Amino acid sequence: MITGTRGRASARVASIAESATLAVDAKAKALKRAGRPVIIFGSGEPDFPTPQHIVQAAAAACHDPRFHRYSPSGGLPELREAIAAKTMRDAGHHVDAAQVVVTNGGKQAIYETFAALLNPGDEVIVPAPYWPTYPEAIALAGGVPVPVFADETTGYRVGVEQLERARTGNTAMLVFSSPANPTGAVYGRAETEAVGAWAAEHGLWVLSDEIYEHMVYGDAEFHSLPAVVPDIRDRCVVVNGVAKSYAMTGWRVGWAVAPHDIAAAMTTLQSHVTSNVCNIAQAAALAAVSGDLEAVSRMRAAFDRRRRTIVRMLGEIDGVRCPEPDGAFYVYASVKDLLGKEIRGRRVGTAAGLAGLLLDEAEVAVVPGEAFGTPGYLRLSYALSDEDLVAGVERIHAVLAEAKD
Ligand code: PMP
Repeated sequence: MITGTRGRASARVASIAESATLAVDAKAKALKRAGRPVIIFGSGEPDFPTPQHIVQAAAAACHDPRFHRYSPSGGLPELREAIAAKTMRDAGHHVDAAQVVVTNGGKQAIYETFAALLNPGDEVIVPAPYWPTYPEAIALAGGVPVPVFADETTGYRVGVEQLERARTGNTAMLVFSSPANPTGAVYGRAETEAVGAWAAEHGLWVLSDEIYEHMVYGDAEFHSLPAVVPDIRDRCVVVNGVAKSYAMTGWRVGWAVAPHDIAAAMTTLQSHVTSNVCNIAQAAALAAVSGDLEAVSRMRAAFDRRRRTIVRMLGEIDGVRCPEPDGAFYVYASVKDLLGKEIRGRRVGTAAGLAGLLLDEAEVAVVPGEAFGTPGYLRLSYALSDEDLVAGVERIHAVLAEAKD
């Protein structure tokens, strides 16, 4: 008999759901290793290699004994300075280096933000569809995630009236993410101002996740919440990182920009959790954030091209409704019209069931909306090659074309 580790894990940890996006990815990659020609729309990472000048900076750091030792928990001083300068350059948000905490990816910055700010029972409003780490990190910190739903009719963007309906005496925080994962939604300037002003008026903290800041397309513009709403600056933590903008998901460098007292609290927490982030990775991140944005623009142009291709191709499939996203590198398509239909002898009841069927029948991996708090949808990442993208959507089309009542 196998006793799952789950059975012996603490209640706090046993209650965490596995990352559905990573689970899809793992299953698809295992099939690929077994020789199957699986096309993966699951992963949230650019398919490009990290730009050469960044890799070279890391290689040089390997040979410098200064980087062979422990370094300050909050990050290398020169990297914190560079992140403060970059925050002004890219977001128009003036901060100093003491407000920056360098973390093992944006994920750790999110975890530490909730850990530093939440008390047991504090409610955190999380617009849904949401990136799955938010509710889990909130719960781990003793907080209570409160989803507020938006669907394709509003471009997956929540409005202030909806947020206000969810606010209670226990509401402590709001998660704001633009451009958003999984929907690619980008809030306009007026919308960003309205959300920020509402949070400031009610004394709420905001975690503003700005990791997709450079991935915006067409007429859409990125607006950093604390840049456009100065009143929220004293209660706002910005999360960012090099993963998405510089094709550096595996290097694990992110950061939080927080008011001084909270940055200090997060640094103390981090000093006991992980000490410093790997110095070599920090040296690479320094080259990334202090360099120009040329590689970022090249990658953005490729993503934009793929975005338009995938939206057009998915739009040609009966039963799939896919609004054109303005940012990040995901499309979030409604498949509600396909639920209840029969495809290749299987009755499709849920988006998760449909994702399973697509993996089996089309050898295509997508992430079901259940992972993001909204059943009835599929998320497809378009951070894969143009050829794979076209071939993969053609396969999806061929299978879904067989749907019958
Ligand atoms: N925020 C969002 C919205 C994301 O999609 C991700 C990565 N999937 C992250 C933060 C964290 O990225 P990382 O930990 O790789 O820096």
